[in-house]
Amino acid sequence: MAGYDYDLFVIGGGSGGVRAARMAAALGKRVGIAEEYRFGGTCVIRGCVPKKLYVYASQFPEHFADAAGYGWTVPQASFDWQTLVANKDREISRLEAIYRKNVQGAGGETFQSRAMLVDPHVVHLLGDDRTVTADQILIATGGRPAPHPALPGHEHCIFSNEAFDLKELPNAIMIEGGGYIAVEFANIFHGLGVDTTLVYRGKEILSRFDMDLRRMLHETMEKKGIKILCHAVSEWIRKRPDGRLDAVVTGGKILTVDQVMLAIGRLPNTENMGLEGVGIEMTKTGAINVDQYSRTNIDNIWAIGDVTNRVQLTPVAIHEAMCFVETAFKGNPTAPDHDTIATAVFSQPEIGTVGLSEDEAIKRFSDIEIYRATFRPMRHTLSGRDEKMLMKLVVDGASKKVLGAHILGPDAGEMAQLLGIPLKAGLTKDDFDRTMAVHPTAAEELVTMYKPTYRVKDGERV
Ligand SMILES: Cc1cc2nc3c(=O)[nH]c(=O)nc-3n(C[C@H](O)[C@H](O)[C@H](O)COP(=O)(O)OP(=O)(O)OC[C@H]3O[C@@H](n4cnc5c(N)ncnc54)[C@H](O)[C@@H]3O)c2cc1C
Repeated sequence: MAGYDYDLFVIGGGSGGVRAARMAAALGKRVGIAEEYRFGGTCVIRGCVPKKLYVYASQFPEHFADAAGYGWTVPQASFDWQTLVANKDREISRLEAIYRKNVQGAGGETFQSRAMLVDPHVVHLLGDDRTVTADQILIATGGRPAPHPALPGHEHCIFSNEAFDLKELPNAIMIEGGGYIAVEFANIFHGLGVDTTLVYRGKEILSRFDMDLRRMLHETMEKKGIKILCHAVSEWIRKRPDGRLDAVVTGGKILTVDQVMLAIGRLPNTENMGLEGVGIEMTKTGAINVDQYSRTNIDNIWAIGDVTNRVQLTPVAIHEAMCFVETAFKGNPTAPDHDTIATAVFSQPEIGTVGLSEDEAIKRFSDIEIYRATFRPMRHTLSGRDEKMLMKLVVDGASKKVLGAHILGPDAGEMAQLLGIPLKAGLTKDDFDRTMAVHPTAAEELVTMYKPTYRVKDGERV
């Protein structure tokens, strides 16, 4: 549209925003994108990427211990937190530059600035104190850790953002929350040698995942030495004269730790952005309401990614971005597909999962077959590590369609990616049975569980 400065202006330079800006610019559209902090967004700067690097770092003590059974003598190992943080910083700076360059390389213009909506076609760039106009506007501002202002002493707590950059590795930490971020950080800190307690108000960590995975991960984490308190919340946090923290949890138990990390959910970034003034509809928690094509109630304003609180994962934000570009700029209305999303929890052991849990399947289908195997993976035989792996398939007894696949154990996330394909394609248990095993692998179990472990008919296990 010649009358506007840009065909598209994107607010937020994270996973979704950068992809949309790059794709639209590559189509020859005039694109601007504003990022208030660092290009790459949550995933690259303080989410998936640094998290996975820290997971790798935290796994070395087990590798060193396991090496003995394979004949290796590993000299006394030592760990330097500052080296890890500095190397992580170098890597994310490299990625940040690539993200920015990719937009610019496609012909988009990047702005290092917070952006606000002034009216449906006008964006104010606070950093540059200038105003730009655009035909289409995309909001991709992501989310941030939910604070806990009702908790006395909450000002002493940290969130995932700060956990990546602590000046010193704590001796002891309490992490509150039972979602994947809390669980992953509990394993990271424990692996790095920190005395770790996970406090969760629910009955079992990782709600919404298959119960078998949840229980077995809980048991394995405890066996490693992570303390897990379920049905518990922190009641207050107090700074001690020695600088450490006392955290009082349900029942009066006092935990003395060096850091308390809250991972109790995330909130969409929609505050102080002029959205109310323009009349954009939002949910009670501030997430932007969108239709199936990611369009808000204002015709030329769209929203994708975590800010819409649909599925908060990087590949989902990227997929929504591509669908948005198809819809808005290629005349090909495309609704993002949120069904059967494979995902991982980078706990130790890892979870890989796709499709329905057993409990969800029972609610939707009257005849369910469960194929389930627990075994010690080969790599733990010589090492002597007392850790089991779990594989589970949830199958519709009537059609034999595989509804869910759930794995706990080494490389489960990698397996979940590949299992996403047959489940998305709607393949049946017979297709799994016809597939030749790859031997010797742990994954071969997925195609060699020929007989159901049990069935669930009309909610009754038979
Ligand atoms: C600790 C942690 C671990 C995670 N691990 C995984 C994982 O393993 N796998 C996975 O798939 N997902 C993971 N996620 C989730 C993933 O990071 C998000 O789903 C993804 O980043 C969402 O992308 P987005 O584009 O919606 O938002 P974001 O990536 O959050 O980007 C939004 C950007 O907008 C900017 N912004 C906000 N307001 C403004 C404004 N007014 N003006 C200008 N800029 C603004 C922000 O600074 C930010 O850079 C993790 C998240 C966290 C916190």
